[in-house]
Amino acid sequence: MAKTYFFKIALWLLLSIPFFTTHRTAIAEPSYGDKVSYSEFKILIQDGMLEEVTLYPTTVRGILKSEEGLKGKKSVTTVRVEDPDLIKDLMAHKINFSAAANNGWSQGLSLIWFVPMIVFLIMMMRARRGMPGAGLMSIGKSRANLYVDKDTGVSFNDVAGVDEAKEELKEIIDYLKTPEKYQRLGGKIPKGVLLVGPTGTGKTLLAKAVAGEAKVPFFSMSGSGFVEMFVGVGAARVRDLFAQAQEKAPCIIFIDEIDALGKARAASPVSGGHEERENTLNQLLVEMDGFDTRKGVILMAATNRPEILDTALLRPGRFDRHILVDRPDIKGREDILRVHCKNVKLSKEVDIKIIAARTPGFVGADLANVVNEAALLAARVGKESVEMSSFEEAINRVIAGLEKKKKVMSKKEQEIIAYHESGHALVAESVPGADKVHRISIIPRGISALGYTLQLPTEDRYLLTRSELLDRLAVLLGGRVAEELIFKEVSTGAQNDLERVTDIAMSMVREYGMSEKIGPMTFHNGRKPQFVELGYRAGRELSEEVSKEIDQEIRKIIFDAHVRVRGILETNKNRLEILAKLLLKKEVIEGSELREIMSKNLPL
Ligand code: ADP
Ligand code: ZN
Repeated sequence: MAKTYFFKIALWLLLSIPFFTTHRTAIAEPSYGDKVSYSEFKILIQDGMLEEVTLYPTTVRGILKSEEGLKGKKSVTTVRVEDPDLIKDLMAHKINFSAAANNGWSQGLSLIWFVPMIVFLIMMMRARRGMPGAGLMSIGKSRANLYVDKDTGVSFNDVAGVDEAKEELKEIIDYLKTPEKYQRLGGKIPKGVLLVGPTGTGKTLLAKAVAGEAKVPFFSMSGSGFVEMFVGVGAARVRDLFAQAQEKAPCIIFIDEIDALGKARAASPVSGGHEERENTLNQLLVEMDGFDTRKGVILMAATNRPEILDTALLRPGRFDRHILVDRPDIKGREDILRVHCKNVKLSKEVDIKIIAARTPGFVGADLANVVNEAALLAARVGKESVEMSSFEEAINRVIAGLEKKKKVMSKKEQEIIAYHESGHALVAESVPGADKVHRISIIPRGISALGYTLQLPTEDRYLLTRSELLDRLAVLLGGRVAEELIFKEVSTGAQNDLERVTDIAMSMVREYGMSEKIGPMTFHNGRKPQFVELGYRAGRELSEEVSKEIDQEIRKIIFDAHVRVRGILETNKNRLEILAKLLLKKEVIEGSELREIMSKNLPL
């Protein structure tokens, strides 16, 4: 309670400062009309109930349209909240508005005073929380919506392609169903389960399915909703959430995008929103430590950026169980497609396996999108059932949507990548032993690959000859050499290529005995890292002389390959230019277009 008084006093002090610092003390703010909350006021605007609005420095007054006079009220006033959308809303609803500025008052009451005042107001309201109709609170509430689902209606059958995650979550379901059984044996159940994986892989769906399978209520909240909130509201919401959940136990609390509020504290710059997030995070930690799993509350959270989470969240007794929900593989994609096709009338010729094969990299949400889009497309043209052609088109549309979300790259970077990828592609088409180029793209996907040149193997290969390996080396070096040739300088973009080049050359010498000088011997048992010790010993047994020779041979293979690639690209420099420029224009080039360019007779 003392806190409340403190806030009140601070607020009145703040409010009175402008009076002392300015000459004019008269206030022209209206004190008549019915007071409504700001959110109610916005609803009046949206419902077109207002005729005219006057903006005062701290209040807003609206005159109601006469025929709609709200329960006989003629005008309403509300406390003015900093709301950049207000003017837009007023314009959109064609409401006449004017601002009433009165010199001294408005000077003293510039933003410097306005913002802290609102903050204090909110704090006060918060202190008096529990009072019905505390107008400003409802703004806070609407931002971080709390959803409660008595029965999510989602079962494990609705989630596909994530079998391992499901397996791990079975224990939790079991526990929620019969907490007594576990308690009797003194078993320890994790408090917090963190689902980690890219967006759209079904983390929320999985959490809902756990609740659905266990038939317990599902409380959910989004971490990002907290960040935009006013000071103190986030922490209060967390308290509410846990209090409500404990009443309804057994149940699940799910926090989506927990990274938004659980960002490592030191890593963020000291600026707006920062403090509020910290308060909210601290409250979450307090609540997590305070609640007892024995009551049957399980906390689940989802993130696609586990690396930025505050370590405090990951400590034992908090989110100490991590479950990976990764992008589905081809079989997983097939299963997910089947789930979403369940209620779709498919034409006989539709082969879900083919759709799965055509959608590498797609997550569950993308696949759900494909099915939905295909059904819509088929319906639009009046088809009886959804045919393969609709799926093809839907896939292209979803891909186009995904490509739009690309990272912004500078012009120069794009240019480098275009030449780099063109280099790979040209070499691949010029050497006999490389797989044919299927597509070249400079559209970034994922974090590591900036562009890509997709080569499809024409047949499955188990054995590779020496010259085929050399051809592969050449293709890998193509990107780097193209950069050298055009920009007289190289970028970091070839790092992954060079790693693979080194790997291949090393294997050729040490494993496959493909170096004439060293001869048909192996020096490397090729075991996985757990046998590092053995490898180490084997390495030590090599005489210094042999090690040196091996090194030299590896270098020579790479050096020769480099000279060869340079030759290829120099004779094809024209084509390289044409290809890179086309790529910059179109971003994607199909293999057939590339081969057309290759077949043209170009002057040197
Ligand atoms: P996340 O929480 O990981 O971002 P969601 O659970 O919100 O992903 O997934 C969004 C939608 O995509 C789901 O409602 C569902 O329709 C579909 N979806 C995603 N993953 C799967 C999956 N593994 N199995 C079936 N549907 C999925
Ligand atoms: Zn490359």
